[in-house]
Amino acid sequence: MKSEEAKKRIEKLVEQLNEYSYEYHVLDQPSVEDSIYDGLMNELKTLEYNYPELVLKNSPTKKVGGQTLKGFKKVTHSSRMLSLNDVFDEVEVQAWADRMLKLAPNENLEFFVDIKMDGLACSIIYEDGEFVQAVTRGDGTTGEDVTENVRTISSVPLKLRRTKGYESFLSGRTEIRGEIVLYKKDFEAINKSREEEGLPLYANPRNLAAGTIRQLDSKIVAMRPLVFRGYDIIVDSQSRIETNQDAYETISGLGLIVNPPTFNSKYVASSIAEVMKAVELWAEKRHSMKFNTDGLVIKLNNRALYQKLGIVGKAPRAAIAYKFPAEQSTTKLRDIFISIGRTGAATPVAILDPVVLAGSKVQMATLHNEGEILRKDIRIGDTVVVRKAGDIIPEVVEPLLKLRSGHEKKFAMPTKCPDCMTDLVKSNKNEAVWRCPNERCPARVHNKITHFASKGALDIDGLGEKNIKSLLDAKLIDDSADIFSLKFEDINNLERFADISARKLIDSIASKKRPNLAKFLFALGIRHVGIQTATDLVTNFRSLDKIAKASEDELLAVEGVGEVVAESIVDWFAEKDNQELLIKFKKLGVEPISPKLDGQSLSGKFFVISGTLSSIEREAAADKIRNNGGIFQSSVGKDTTYLVTGENPGKSKLDKAAKLGIQIIDESEFNKLFKD
Ligand code: NAD
Repeated sequence: MKSEEAKKRIEKLVEQLNEYSYEYHVLDQPSVEDSIYDGLMNELKTLEYNYPELVLKNSPTKKVGGQTLKGFKKVTHSSRMLSLNDVFDEVEVQAWADRMLKLAPNENLEFFVDIKMDGLACSIIYEDGEFVQAVTRGDGTTGEDVTENVRTISSVPLKLRRTKGYESFLSGRTEIRGEIVLYKKDFEAINKSREEEGLPLYANPRNLAAGTIRQLDSKIVAMRPLVFRGYDIIVDSQSRIETNQDAYETISGLGLIVNPPTFNSKYVASSIAEVMKAVELWAEKRHSMKFNTDGLVIKLNNRALYQKLGIVGKAPRAAIAYKFPAEQSTTKLRDIFISIGRTGAATPVAILDPVVLAGSKVQMATLHNEGEILRKDIRIGDTVVVRKAGDIIPEVVEPLLKLRSGHEKKFAMPTKCPDCMTDLVKSNKNEAVWRCPNERCPARVHNKITHFASKGALDIDGLGEKNIKSLLDAKLIDDSADIFSLKFEDINNLERFADISARKLIDSIASKKRPNLAKFLFALGIRHVGIQTATDLVTNFRSLDKIAKASEDELLAVEGVGEVVAESIVDWFAEKDNQELLIKFKKLGVEPISPKLDGQSLSGKFFVISGTLSSIEREAAADKIRNNGGIFQSSVGKDTTYLVTGENPGKSKLDKAAKLGIQIIDESEFNKLFKD
């Protein structure tokens, strides 16, 4: 990037981030998710690192929080209340530890690991053990005097507790810093009653807690079940508290709440590897916390060293916030290309600057269709919000219009298929999707075969997208049936294969000659026939011939099959090419079998699985559900009966299930459903 370009970009980012920060810190009404703010903040930090001469005075990287609100007395903090620098992976944690070791080479670093609470920071001051003042973080130097409001919080003792060993903290000034949070269940209850009263809903527990504390009527505060949880203690003679472990024990001894130990009944990790174990544990466990958390706070346990290492900008050098993988972030949309799917659908796909979402690097995201691009006014060169939740394909959510430079380009949908140059068509005017109608279009053929061999369909080991491309290029296959005509001699000379891989592929193809009929039907790639519809069809008709001969009316009698699906099935089987394809399968000895059903005990029950199950693969679990009459869904909806959670379940699914009151069960409860 040229310096002039960087300057303009920095100005835009600073302006936008300051606006978001004002909405968040001052108004307590954010207009975007934190991960979007964090994404832009990261971009700004990188630019400021590369162009230090361009750093602006009002950069949000220099400031803590926001201004104080009028109406509250301003109070200067005894020492600055700081922010924390974010890290997102092990490499960054290690780099942080290395930086500290450079400054303190002979130290044996011990790390204190705690849950990062998503609330608002507050400092509570006790004089001779008596509550005298409470102050918000404000801009880090000056905060708002919220004494009367905090006095109403039941977890804030008005007198510190006298406990053996901690009596000395009952004389003189003792300041306890911590986070005021609102528990998730209380937040939901408040929003529920607002919904019933027809009032607008609050955005999230953090902003409701902050808004509550920073309003002038303490009677209203008293009605909201806010909770204070301490994380730091400041006394005149700091040397009395040697470690952060001691600090937590002291806070707790004085009668305030602290978070429980984070792993193996302790807080302290002796290595980065151990810290990462805690990260792994909490990435999963965090959803079951009472309050929202977006990460872990990792700090040096030794408080003298912590102080000695000092402050860099607005954050202590000896502490970091490890942010859990976000499902949304921001990035630059570099270009748009058209991808032709197996049914011919022409999907615009965004090429992005790489961004990490839900723990994996994303470089492409779907834009769905031309209409979506126009409706959202997405342009090439835009800064966009991208999302990847669970198993859902990454998607572009929206452009951030205020970050435009004026050089962005509008996208024009091509009129021809980029792969075979056939004119793209719409089957009717109202359809959103353009299609390539050419059944022999190389992109379509490739995708059809890829779908046929994919995990959810025939699951042919060793036959992924790239190998299929090699086989197509070598003219060894032309359609999915041809796979069954492949011989060892045909493929072991191809570039991507050696003797062993060629043998393995031939064996795995042979092992799929008697596939499950529902999987086979799904694998054929008939439009609108997903695995559930295929299963329903097989349950009703029991043979491929019968499905092929079924009339639209007969198909409509199957639950879950509507007119569009029925028509699509009839059309598919009427097509001459498809009839020939089925004959070819038969000739090559492919004989789908209709399995015996295990029972109907799960009939009428809808399941969603989130996270990794330990005893069974996802696809096998889905089959088990279907074989027992249940319905397997990919996303949580009103009709979902159970959300089954494994390791690392997706946050959006959990949130949605909780919101809809859907029963959330773990793997052992899930297994019990099959016992009788
Ligand atoms: P931060 O709030 O993420 O981290 C610092 C704070 O963490 C400390 O002040 C402390 O109060 C708190 N904390 C919670 N648990 C703690 C624990 N166990 N130990 C120690 N400290 C703990 O950083 P920040 O720079 O003050 O605020 C930035 C945050 O605000 C980011 O998460 C950002 O996404 C969000 N934000 C969002 C918007 C928006 O528009 N959505 C705008 C501005 C800021």
